[in-house]
Amino acid sequence: MINLNFSKLEENYLFTEIARRTDEFVRANPDKRVIRLGIGDVTRPIARVTADAIINAVEELTHTETFRGYGPEVGYVWAREAVKRYYSTYGIEVDADEITIGDGIGEDIANVTDLFDKGGCTVLLPDPVYPLYKATSLIDGQRIIYIECNKANNFLPTPPDFGSDVVYLCSPNNPTGAAFNRRQLQEWVDYANRVGAVILYDNAYERFITDDDCPHSIFAIPGARSCAMEFNSLSKTAGFTCVRSGYNMIPKELVRDGVSLLRLWQQRQTTKYNGAPYMTQRGLEATLTPEGLRQADENIHYYKRNVKLITDVLDRKGWYYTGGRNSPYIWLECPNGMKSWEMFDLLLNELYVIGTPGVGFGEYGEGFFRLTTFNTYEKTKEAMERIDRYHF
Ligand code: PLP
Repeated sequence: MINLNFSKLEENYLFTEIARRTDEFVRANPDKRVIRLGIGDVTRPIARVTADAIINAVEELTHTETFRGYGPEVGYVWAREAVKRYYSTYGIEVDADEITIGDGIGEDIANVTDLFDKGGCTVLLPDPVYPLYKATSLIDGQRIIYIECNKANNFLPTPPDFGSDVVYLCSPNNPTGAAFNRRQLQEWVDYANRVGAVILYDNAYERFITDDDCPHSIFAIPGARSCAMEFNSLSKTAGFTCVRSGYNMIPKELVRDGVSLLRLWQQRQTTKYNGAPYMTQRGLEATLTPEGLRQADENIHYYKRNVKLITDVLDRKGWYYTGGRNSPYIWLECPNGMKSWEMFDLLLNELYVIGTPGVGFGEYGEGFFRLTTFNTYEKTKEAMERIDRYHF
């Protein structure tokens, strides 16, 4: 009667366990200044133009003349046009009809699984992986095949020599911070077109890209329109983690079993969803203007200064790491063959610094550790000075 696949989900062990060990330490050592470099959420405020647009939108709703009821389930035309214009700043032409506005992409990435045959798909998941893709694939009873990411491939998975139906790719990646260049992404697009797979491309950290060779969208890659859909969020781009706004792009050419996936998604949304809030769509529209992006990018630059604080120390220590250049995440190899949780305990107990054990993102994350750049400059500096001084 009920979907027993839920029993396959692991409890939220990783973050619960981090909180448990941290609380225990803080209780026993109230005098120690603990610094959190495990934060996976933004901390800088939203842009003024974004806030003004949201406030104005709320104000409009208080007057009969400007009040609004339900909006279009797939998003207002002006919001979709704003996304289209944003893509064009990267030289990518998309049709506004191919864009859908939502409440952030955690939801969209989970909901898009409705389009696929539950229990009937082979899903490729890079490991380590953002836990959502694994959880939804388990809930749907899909057959999961993990693709090992490791030092040899710089934590950038390469296509296998067998077929699949659905492939999750996230670039720049959470947790590893690694980002595909054009050639690497082209290999995945060619693979998907060859075997008929659909790539679900999570682009949440696109705004952190600095390398020219790393595409800001999978649609910068020839052939992507017939095999990929893309999800992008304002959460990390513009501090929208509590505001909630994101969008996805499904090209008209993406057809499987004779069915357009865009059409299916629109059917799904118009059936199960009543549209993103008017206010957040006005916020999205304002954020994607040149001035909105300029203001939002100030925060990205702030986090980037923290990247330098972290990677300077790692470079000095000669530790292997990925990420940072194109991402707010830095994924480092624990020194002296330490396991992920050993590294966690050492940093907590000796240096009062908290990070995230890599093994929490999959078995190939064992021996690795994630640091994030979302804390303040001052605290990040202090944490990295402690790590720099310590003899591992
Ligand atoms: N995808 C990745 C890789 C993320 O790291 C996150 C949030 O941390 C999300 C999706 C969820 O984004 P949203 O806030 O738009 O739901």
